[in-house]
Amino acid sequence: MSDDVTPIRQQYLDIKKKYPDAILFFRLGDFYETFDNDAETTSRELDIVLTSRNVAKGMRIPMAGIPYHAAENYLSRLIERGYHVAICEQVGEQPVKGLFPREVTRVVTPGTLLEPSLLKGDRNNYLASLFIAHDSAGLAYADISTGEFAATEWTGQDFFTRVRAELARLQPSEIILPVECPVSDQITYHKTFQPNWRFETGRCMEALKKQLQTSTLDGFGLRGMQSAIQAAGALIQYLQDTQPAALQLLVSIHTYQLDSSMLLDVSTRRNLELTETIRGGSEEGSLLSVLDHAITPMGHRLMRSWVSKPLLDIPAIQARQACVQWFVDNGLIRKEFIQSLKDISDLERLVNRVTAGTAQPRDLTAIRANLHALPELLRILASPCEAVQSILKHLDPCTNELALLDEAIADDPPATLQNTGVIRPGYSSELDNIIQSSRNAREWIANLEQVERERTGIKNLKVGYNKVFGYYIEVTHSNTGVVPQEYIRKQTLVNAERYITPEMKEYETLVLNAEERIREVEGRLFREICRNIAANSSRLLKTAQAISELDVTAALADVAVNNHYVCPEITPEPVLEIIDGRHPVVEKTLTSDRFIPNDTVFDQGELVRVITGPNMSGKSTFLRQVALIVLMAQMGSFVPASSARIGLVDRIFTRIGAQDEIHAGQSTFMVEMVETANILHHATTRSLLVLDEIGRGTSTYDGLSIAWAVVEHIHNHPGLRSRTLFATHYHELTQLADLLPGIRNYNVAVTEVDNNVVFLHKIVPGGTDRSYGIHVGQLAGLPKPVIQRANEILSELEATSGKAVNIGETTSRQMALFPETNPLLDELKALDILSISPLEALNKLFEWKKKY
Ligand code: ADP
Repeated sequence: MSDDVTPIRQQYLDIKKKYPDAILFFRLGDFYETFDNDAETTSRELDIVLTSRNVAKGMRIPMAGIPYHAAENYLSRLIERGYHVAICEQVGEQPVKGLFPREVTRVVTPGTLLEPSLLKGDRNNYLASLFIAHDSAGLAYADISTGEFAATEWTGQDFFTRVRAELARLQPSEIILPVECPVSDQITYHKTFQPNWRFETGRCMEALKKQLQTSTLDGFGLRGMQSAIQAAGALIQYLQDTQPAALQLLVSIHTYQLDSSMLLDVSTRRNLELTETIRGGSEEGSLLSVLDHAITPMGHRLMRSWVSKPLLDIPAIQARQACVQWFVDNGLIRKEFIQSLKDISDLERLVNRVTAGTAQPRDLTAIRANLHALPELLRILASPCEAVQSILKHLDPCTNELALLDEAIADDPPATLQNTGVIRPGYSSELDNIIQSSRNAREWIANLEQVERERTGIKNLKVGYNKVFGYYIEVTHSNTGVVPQEYIRKQTLVNAERYITPEMKEYETLVLNAEERIREVEGRLFREICRNIAANSSRLLKTAQAISELDVTAALADVAVNNHYVCPEITPEPVLEIIDGRHPVVEKTLTSDRFIPNDTVFDQGELVRVITGPNMSGKSTFLRQVALIVLMAQMGSFVPASSARIGLVDRIFTRIGAQDEIHAGQSTFMVEMVETANILHHATTRSLLVLDEIGRGTSTYDGLSIAWAVVEHIHNHPGLRSRTLFATHYHELTQLADLLPGIRNYNVAVTEVDNNVVFLHKIVPGGTDRSYGIHVGQLAGLPKPVIQRANEILSELEATSGKAVNIGETTSRQMALFPETNPLLDELKALDILSISPLEALNKLFEWKKKY
């Protein structure tokens, strides 16, 4: 380093060296300044002026600054664009000579935000950490704005699928990975790489033990969960660097096995449009948008979590149902309760800001307002059912905290501690005395002119103030002879003398220092109060949690009543009986037509329901509706049906629509097959499979063969035999029902009125042999001559080639479809379709495609 740079430049360089990857906001007075490359980036990204500053003789460097009071806005823009920002503050007292000491107090990253204006109220802001070992993966996550901290791990071959599904649920805003993470390319969230050694087991264990103040991690269920420990330990170390104050919040870690909730993989989440739509990705039009009538921000977050994490435990589901039922049965109470929730704000995040030490005065008044609203909530829910009661018992009115806040904090305090008036008069005699004596001193000075005129008899004596001398007494030269002895002369003007007195200076000090002292004492008292509240934060957080559960169940009840849902019966038997089921979202969006309800009753022994029907007749809607009803049932919600009995489902798999999923470098068909393979590998007898148009992305015969083989496999494979809804436009598949006992055919009813085809959207037993594709073409506005000609061609084709392909009937009939001379024929003949796996079938197809 050059010796002749200015001391402040040297201080800057020393600090910057430690944060090479972040933009350093360097506090200089009322500004955060950025220098060098940081200044160029900041100026470019935030559209602020780039200036320069002299840092050594003949050396100017780029500089860009933002006022500290407007920092939040600028920060959010940088974070949104993927930058990390290190905030370097002036700390402690400025020495008489030399520089303010400065240090980085936090590094702001997408996953470590606490500023209310940068956080979305209705969702958690998760920081995740992932560690991949050779046959296991550990995942930890924390939301430092709510104190949630959890970890899990998977072993086995397909752990990455599970990691992906869990990340899709969490939607972390930032994920920490070791530099050498083998799957980092496949992770699309904001990635922050950390050195590999940060993930070393011993180090991570120590970090966690220290954080959780424990000598063993077993009590947290972490015994033997090495990968989870590595992920969680790295997360703690990262927070130590970036947001140390937030560490106080993470007092406990929750370990979980995904077995307690339903695993929903990425494509199922997307296909069912749980929290956002496939097209456009908006929340409007998703299941969440229909269900989320929660009122509080905590309720919104919990609703999102319930939708994303259906349960697998029947008693837990029934407990939620019982609460919803109670709110349904007690409509007046529900309405009153929902109304009263409007007085509740984000208690969870407010309390955490207090614990993290980032609270401002108005956070405390907001907590106070929440606590004031609690007795009313408790009054409304005075005689609850058992299920509601078991939530209510965690709702603590926190009377001590409320009393403290009432006593200590002013009604309408200023936004920050920079201004005085935070503490209520009467709370601290120390503070009251300072305020009182400053008031007296002011009064004394205000009266001084009058008093001194009378005392000295000098009529034109004046009391004035200037910056150099402070208060003074001014007497014209003609009267200087009679000034009292204690006047001390300070300044001589052309026609007057200015004096001070020791007493006056004392009062002056009181006035001038009062503001500073009040600020200081208020700051100290405020921190004390915050510490007091923080000490009882777990009670407040439990209360917040209870409120959010009540909020969500009351909202679900409201939705159930308004939309005519019923309480489904959940049973361990493998049944599926939905009467008059409706699609919760589509039924709300239909404006002109009425939504046609459909039954889904699986007979004894029924496994696969093959549904044929024309395009646009409602197959996909029906399939999704069944999956959504099952999912809603397991999250504890009521469902859109007139009755429902649902055998607990361990996982819902969906394979729907290929058109939206053109991944880079993969053909649509490949994506479709990869997903199908995944389903066939992971589904169990307790899963629900919703498969739409398998095999569509390839030629008819390829597609048909695969679809056929997939249905057979699901039906025959002992580990599968899952309840399956299989929609297809291959009518040939209806023949399977004659060959295999667990297969049933259904179709979407169509009727013709005046030569026009009308879709009834009603799913009825039986197969169909017409696709009505030309009719759909007509609906879509194809020119009339094209439609006419298409009808002619269709009749000709049907006349010459017979109707549908008849795979199941006889081998010779099936083969007649293929040219006799084709060598493929021999190979196909030799293949025993029933004994090979779909993946082998797929490989065969690829091989044939290449070869022929
Ligand atoms: P498919 O999968 O057979 O091509 P979709 O499920 O996409 O058909 O449905 C096409 C349209 O038909 C939907 O957008 C919806 O407007 C309407 N629809 C589907 N099911 C119903 C129903 N049960 N009642 C009323 N309208 C329906």
